[in-house]
Amino acid sequence: MIKNSMYIIISYFICCIIFTPIFIKHGRKKYLKDKGVKYKRINDLNNDNEFEKKIFKYTVFVNVETKKKLDNINLLEIALNSFDNNEGNVKEKYYSFLEENKRYNSYVEEFNNIMDKDITYKDDIVIGTALFKDVTKFKEYELKKCRKLLKKFKYKFLLRIYATYDSPKRKKHWVKEKTFDINDISLFPIILNQRTEYQKSKKYQREIMTDSLRYDVLKRDKYKCVICGASASDGAKLEVDHIIPISKGGQTTIDNLQTLCMSCNRGKSNKE
Ligand SMILES: [Zn+2]
Repeated sequence: MIKNSMYIIISYFICCIIFTPIFIKHGRKKYLKDKGVKYKRINDLNNDNEFEKKIFKYTVFVNVETKKKLDNINLLEIALNSFDNNEGNVKEKYYSFLEENKRYNSYVEEFNNIMDKDITYKDDIVIGTALFKDVTKFKEYELKKCRKLLKKFKYKFLLRIYATYDSPKRKKHWVKEKTFDINDISLFPIILNQRTEYQKSKKYQREIMTDSLRYDVLKRDKYKCVICGASASDGAKLEVDHIIPISKGGQTTIDNLQTLCMSCNRGKSNKE
């Protein structure tokens, strides 16, 4: 008999040891849901802000003719150009990614605002002393639980360049690849913008005046000065001239170039 009561008492204590923390845990949670002002605000904020888990991945495939070309390939350059040309809508997708990122950032800001705000709870609000000793303990608990509610940004943006070279008869296959993530891609508009600025520069416009372009202009103008009609066989010295001078913002493009003889060109320069 005594032995039986002993078992009952021991079982009771064991149950208490096992179940008390569970009841306390459950009680605290329920209490937080009912009374936690911060907790409620965070939950409302979360309900208003959904962030989809998305992956945008675009692959640019490039096949080159020689192994040497593959060895020297500049994958960043290809990525920049694909971005600039908006291949696979990559540019638009990037800007919609930025929008989504902006939305997420303002969510985080709002989240932090709520977290930082001090909420006054009256001491008597803490009814269950077994649950929380005092208001400070409740606040700590609330903060801890709220922190876990911060949503994550699960939107990935990737641009992959996949360059290959196949040896004749496809006996061997070489690959060079690189995936650019959002940190890399966020630099693209900056680099491209600087490139455009440079291309507008006078230095660049002078640099791209190549012999082959001169040849094309002379050929198009039938090897004659477009003003007086003199040709090299007449003893005229022909020059390729910028219609709108580089100094005035003219570009080195075939449309802005013309064939002039030296004397017409000097005459034109004097007028400018
Ligand atoms: Zn002429």
